[in-house]
Amino acid sequence: MGRLDAFLRQFREQEQKLTVERREKTQCPYCSMQCTMYLHKKHSPYSSRYQVSPNREDPVVQGRLCVKGMQAHVHALDRNRLKSPLLRRNGKLEPVSWEEAMDWFRRKVTDTQRQAGRDAVAVYGGGSLTNEEAYLLGKFARIGLGTCYIDYNGRFCMSSAATAANQAFGVDRGMTAPLSDIPRAGCIIVAGANIAECQPTMMPYLRRAKANGAVLIVIDPRKTPTAKLADIHLAVRPGGDVALVNGILKVIVEEGYTDEAFLRNHTTGGEALMDYLQSVSIGEAARESGVPAEEIIRTARAYGEAETGWVLTARGVEQHATGVQNVRNFINLILLTGKIGGVGSGYGAVTGQGNGQGGREHGQKADQLPGYRRIDEPEHRRAVAEVWGVKESDLPGSGVSAFEMFSLALERAIRGMVILSSNPLVSSPDVGFVEKALKQLDFLVVIDLFLSETAEMADLVLPGSSYLEDEGTMTNLEGRVTLRRAVKKLPGTAKPDWVILGEMARVLGKGKYFSYSSPEKIFDELRCASRGGIADYSGISYGRIEEEGGVFWPCSRKDTPGEARLFTDRRFFHSDGRARLTPVPHVSLPEPTNDEYPLVLTTGRLMPHYLSGAQTRRTPDLNGKAPEPFLYMHPDRAKRCGLENGQEAHIVSRRGEMVLRVKLTSGIREDTVFGPMHWGGEQCINRLTLPELDPDSRMPSFKACAVRVTPVKVKGIPKISSMQGERSG
Ligand code: SF4
Repeated sequence: MGRLDAFLRQFREQEQKLTVERREKTQCPYCSMQCTMYLHKKHSPYSSRYQVSPNREDPVVQGRLCVKGMQAHVHALDRNRLKSPLLRRNGKLEPVSWEEAMDWFRRKVTDTQRQAGRDAVAVYGGGSLTNEEAYLLGKFARIGLGTCYIDYNGRFCMSSAATAANQAFGVDRGMTAPLSDIPRAGCIIVAGANIAECQPTMMPYLRRAKANGAVLIVIDPRKTPTAKLADIHLAVRPGGDVALVNGILKVIVEEGYTDEAFLRNHTTGGEALMDYLQSVSIGEAARESGVPAEEIIRTARAYGEAETGWVLTARGVEQHATGVQNVRNFINLILLTGKIGGVGSGYGAVTGQGNGQGGREHGQKADQLPGYRRIDEPEHRRAVAEVWGVKESDLPGSGVSAFEMFSLALERAIRGMVILSSNPLVSSPDVGFVEKALKQLDFLVVIDLFLSETAEMADLVLPGSSYLEDEGTMTNLEGRVTLRRAVKKLPGTAKPDWVILGEMARVLGKGKYFSYSSPEKIFDELRCASRGGIADYSGISYGRIEEEGGVFWPCSRKDTPGEARLFTDRRFFHSDGRARLTPVPHVSLPEPTNDEYPLVLTTGRLMPHYLSGAQTRRTPDLNGKAPEPFLYMHPDRAKRCGLENGQEAHIVSRRGEMVLRVKLTSGIREDTVFGPMHWGGEQCINRLTLPELDPDSRMPSFKACAVRVTPVKVKGIPKISSMQGERSG
């Protein structure tokens, strides 16, 4: 053995002796499954190494993790994390102290509000915040800034399902029963949800249901990995969901699958729906939806004949200008057949973001106060004002939805904006418009982990906390409240998001309303503020969550369990206890195809990435699996367009244009192309998407806009206007 080998062996032995290993329980920051895991840190004077192992005691996923969860810690440990505040000077972002940053913030807010009123400063939140931070952000907007303008990126995620569930059931909790109920279903309809890629650890529930004999029906314009598992795959035309479901409802009624006693005793609106369905023809439904009549009939019979059934919807159904009506029609199907409240039956909106559920309950929505209370209800306002120690008249009124805030920025009604953990310059529809709006602001403050595309436009960037450093509760897609402890120190001078919000309030002279010593203290206040609301968390505590492995809401008493299954007594949350059916006529897409724009563009997620990609594009093992976005296209359509696999295509909508390489797949409708949503700059698919908003939920029409696709070599293509450069992860 040479001297070098001997030295290395000695060094390794020494390092091993000095290595300290710690194991901490944490929770994936990505999708709404919120899988728990252990983070192992091996630390010696010479190196630190991290590894992840599953938590087999997890009551929801029993030790399963997907590729994103296994790699989640990588972005949190990235050395390019923001470590100090950055302030724009002479056009460049430069590190400054927190004192300087906060002083600048105070002056900007004070000057702007003095000149243009309190509502001139807006707040934009995110669906990955903890419940405590979502709650605090709502309070910061209303009390710290005194503005009515607050909304969040969940508007682009769950708002249609939430509105539809509120209208139909009087409550919006993602799932009406726990995931463990799904394997008991006789038939499962999965509509517009690519669970295999977006919530991979949920798939075993569907597989178990199938093994138990359930018929699995997947409705999606693409043959996704989820659709490949289906017994029946309905390749619906984007925008055809209502027509498709009307066809199914027609068969349900005509062939006697309705539950008359349930309809009579527990619902209203059934007669109007039945009357309307008389005018529906299966042939018309087939034409409008693009699904053959025999498949519609087969689906109706499979669901109608099953004793029990679940319907799961997600963004494919919800991200439309008719998103609420699309979901209402699926709920019509559930209510007509009475498949709700009992074992093996229910409805689930498969939430996208990590805290998509809790994030929409406690006040970061334009019209909402904690506990799912309404800001325009005097009684609700009084209840929350009392907890906050202010007069009811001090609370502002309703604001506007996320995209509408950008319109107001362009009109100069909003002049300053604070964005927390969100990247709207990638995730909003028509990002060219959003970029113009952000440029109109007098000041933009972004709190984030990295210089995201949006942060790069900011005047002040504040370094916030990752999931490993941030303590708080999250509510998973079932409505189960979980607790994630902080397991790591923050880098540099970065601070927990809740601390940053408290400091911002303090410099604005509102510190006495934000003097919390820990996230648990914020949660205790949230419990009081939610007491008596629909999303009542008052009986939930950190101690209970840890002891019980999570607690379902509503939970109004410390000594009773939360309600894992809703509507067991067939009473719904409307004052008369009845669920609402409603006729839903089919309407055409807001932007129909024509000779100039002959294809429908639909958008969505890829397995290795999450939302705007700000974290996953910075994770080499995830980014390596999908380093660039492609345009997915049917080979026959590509041939007609003169395109081959891998060739660059020029994609144009009425709002913008871009170039992507084409990936050919027979698993997509010929009239539809698909683009993933995880990239910014010139690769941002939202350069093309349509900001037509649903009238009730204010959800944009991400899932359908008209485009044309041509080979890049075609003469006369205008040069693509340059947007902000893409940051690769
Ligand atoms: Fe679990 Fe979702 Fe994280 Fe995957 S991304 S590990 S399914 S929480």
